[in-house]
Formats: sequence, C-alpha cells, structure tokens
Amino acid sequence: MQYVSTRGGVPAATYTEIILQGLAKDGGLFVPVQYPQVSKETLKSWRGLNYAQLATAVTALFAKDMNRSTIAHLCESTYTSETYDHGREGTDFSKIVPLVWLDKEVGILELSNGPTLAFKDMAMQYLGALFECVLSKRQEKLNILGATSGDTGSAAEYAMRGREGIKVFMLSPKGRMSDFQRAQMYSLLDGNIFNIAVEGSFDDAQDIVKAVSADLEFKTKYSIGTVNSINWARIAAQVVYYFSGWLQAAENEDEEVAFSVPSGNFGDVLAGWIAKQMGLPIRQLIVATNENDVLYEFFKTGRYKVRDSAHTYVTSSPSMDISKASNFERYVYDICGKDPERVCELWNELKTKGEFLLDGPEWERVKASGVCSARSTHEERIERIRKSWYEHQFLVDPHTADGLNAAYKMKIDGVKTICLETALPAKFGKTIVEAVGFEPPVPNGYEGISEKPQKVVDMPANVQLVKEFIEQNT
Ligand SMILES: *Cc1c(COP(=O)(O)O)cnc(C)c1O
Repeated sequence: MQYVSTRGGVPAATYTEIILQGLAKDGGLFVPVQYPQVSKETLKSWRGLNYAQLATAVTALFAKDMNRSTIAHLCESTYTSETYDHGREGTDFSKIVPLVWLDKEVGILELSNGPTLAFKDMAMQYLGALFECVLSKRQEKLNILGATSGDTGSAAEYAMRGREGIKVFMLSPKGRMSDFQRAQMYSLLDGNIFNIAVEGSFDDAQDIVKAVSADLEFKTKYSIGTVNSINWARIAAQVVYYFSGWLQAAENEDEEVAFSVPSGNFGDVLAGWIAKQMGLPIRQLIVATNENDVLYEFFKTGRYKVRDSAHTYVTSSPSMDISKASNFERYVYDICGKDPERVCELWNELKTKGEFLLDGPEWERVKASGVCSARSTHEERIERIRKSWYEHQFLVDPHTADGLNAAYKMKIDGVKTICLETALPAKFGKTIVEAVGFEPPVPNGYEGISEKPQKVVDMPANVQLVKEFIEQNT
C-alpha cells in the first residue's frame, strides 16, 4: 500500500514513512493510492473479534510495511479496558467503544472513556505507542511541538507521557482554558512533557508553532514534529471504531447504518467516509456543526467558504469552533476523482478568493456520496442535553448534543443512526449546569484534579524564547 499527496507533488511512500510527517512537502495531505476493500465475508468473520483484534485487522490493511505481530502488540497494549474505564455507571468497558441505544433507532457510540475523556484518545493513544516503536527501530528521537486550546494538547500529552525518545512541548493560551482543561494538562509531571503558557491567544500560540516549523534548519536539528489531526495514522486508527459501531448495530452483513459526527477539522467524519469506501455498509454520514457552519454551508450549497477570525464564533461546543476544516481536502480529492491537478486548482482559488464552488458533475457526486450535514445552535444544544437526560437518562456533552441534533434532523426511517460521543460531560460543567441544573459526575481518577500540583512555564508570545526553551530541554 502506497501513499501519495492530494496535490500530486511528492513521490509515493509507505505507511511508516508518512506517519511522522504532517503535511506533505507540496502542501497536500497523504492519502492511500486506493482504499483497501473489506468484503462481506471478512466483515462477518470480524464479528467475534474484540476491539484490539479489530484494530489490528483494520490497521494491517493500511500499514502494509509493518509486521502483523508488531501491529497486534501495539493494539493490544493500547486498547485495554484499564485505559478506557472511568467508572461511568452502566458501561461495559470491555468493549472499549460500547454502543448504547437511546431509542429503537438512535444510539451513541461511547468514544470518550479514554484518559482525557474525549474521542481524540482513541487515535492518539495508539499514535503514542506507534511513534515509540518506530522511533526506537530507527534509533531516532522526536520533539513534538504543538499549540492547543484544550482537547488536542491534553490527548497528545497523555499519549506521549513517559515514552522513550519522545518529548512534548505544548503551547497553550495563558488563562484562556477552563480550570478543568488546565488542571488536566498541567498536572502531568512527567519529565518528557513541557507545558508552555503563552501570553496571548490560541492563534498567537499557533503562529509560534508555524514559525518554528518553518525554520527548516531548526526543525531538522531538533527533530521537530507534530501530531495534528491531519496525521494519517490518527485517521486510520479512527476508521476502526466505525467498524466496531457497525458490528455492534447491524444484524446482518446487508444492513446499512448511519453515523452522525460532531465535526471540526473533518478528521473524525473523514474516517467514516474511508470506512464507507472500504465497503462498510454506511447509508449516510451526517456532518454535525454548531454555529460555525462552514461545512454545513458546503453540503447545502457546494460552496466552501473559509471564515476569518471575526466570523469564527466562540460557542458552547468549543472544539467545533473552526474557520476551516483541514481534512476536508481528502474528501474533495475523492470527489474530484483523485485528480491532484483539480485539487491544486481549487486550493489556489481558496487562497486567492477565500472560497470555491463545486457544481456540475462534482456537485452531483457530493450529493450522491452519502454525506450530508445539519447544524445546531446553543439553544438546541441545551435542549438536547436536557432531553437526552430527562427522556433517556443519558447525559451528553455539548458536542455530542450537536451530533444528536443532527442525527434527529437527518434521520432516515428504518435506518439505525449512531451518534459518535466525542467528549464526556465532565469536561463542560458550565453548559451542563445550564441545561440540567446539576454538575456532571466526576470520572474516576479525576477527583480533586484542580488541587494537584501543576507544571507549566509562562512565556511571552515570542518565537525566539520558545526556540531557546526547546534547545535547553532537549
Ligand atoms: C476534536 C473534537 C471534535 C472535532 O473533531 P474533528 O475530527 O476535528 O472533526 C469534536 N468534538 C470534540 C469534543 C473534539 O475534541
């Protein structure tokens, strides 16, 4: 299995060659030349597998240059019920991603029982194990540099803590994260984790990461890498839970189900698109957005128009507050018949005009692709959290509430619709209190988290200072 760039400008490479890279050198994203195919017989044979075995089977299709036994070892050590157990009442943690039904045809796939209580752990935990393994084989080291407004940074730190050959330098906007998010990240005292609180906004922190990464000499000398959501190994690891969700929902190999996905950078829903291309019987993929509705607009009109910061709103489902959707390029590549020249043309248009429009046969293909979208507002989100609690006794977080709203808006009669749970309510106490009037339960291991000692360095938003800090600590 070979990987190429959506912009067509780099030589084909293998899985282990691309996983430590972010963007391809031509500015595109890595994609497999073709998607591996899974037959109905294979699907049937996967019914008896536990999650780690299923992850091994799916990953082996993408990582053709790794030994099956190595993949199995990585997956067995990653997907354990100890790691994915926070004591939620009534949950069968042995399933890793248990599916619970709210009513006859709408279910929730619990993806948020990992160490940081959000679905990003599902792929990031595997990435940590994979990086450690690949780096030790090559006798290399990696310094991960990132900026976070909350979720990604903590998922990365919990995945990389204590790993051989890896250090994490995570920039966060000082004083702009919730107490819970701060406590979650800064209370990691591992020697290979460095929290840097930058005096500025998330964008200032992000700009520093870009500036450091653009200094190729520094980047090479200090082996700087990233773990953002365009990383192919993360996407491939997310494909696994669509298979698991389908296996738990479908009664036979011909049954099609639908998925509703709270979306930001389009990574999570892209994994569903890939599962569908591999042959998983998916009737529709619903892209759930909040008031930041770039993707909603595209799936309604064919117009992809990125937003500026004045038009990117702060909402009560903050992890979906995006101005553009990085992984969207991979979907558009498929829609354009995997034509890199067309992708270059569209992304040039995006750069000069801030938008592009798909019409004609391309728009027809979008409509026929089985991907659609629905948006929800703060009021609808609050109402859904309330309803889900009082009618179904299931407490959802604000992002999952957007997913549920989209599921109910787009649902096809007779088709089971699975909403992906992207975080636990415990992370968003304020909104939960607004909806139901009580604080969400504190998951096991998180009692008294804000009283724990914290490790963080404050720093002005200055590229040179960040570089010096990395030099001193590697
Ligand atoms: C990251 C995140 C999302 C968005 O996922 P994408 O893969 O970027 O589309 C949604 N909800 C939560 C809670 C997240 O942390």
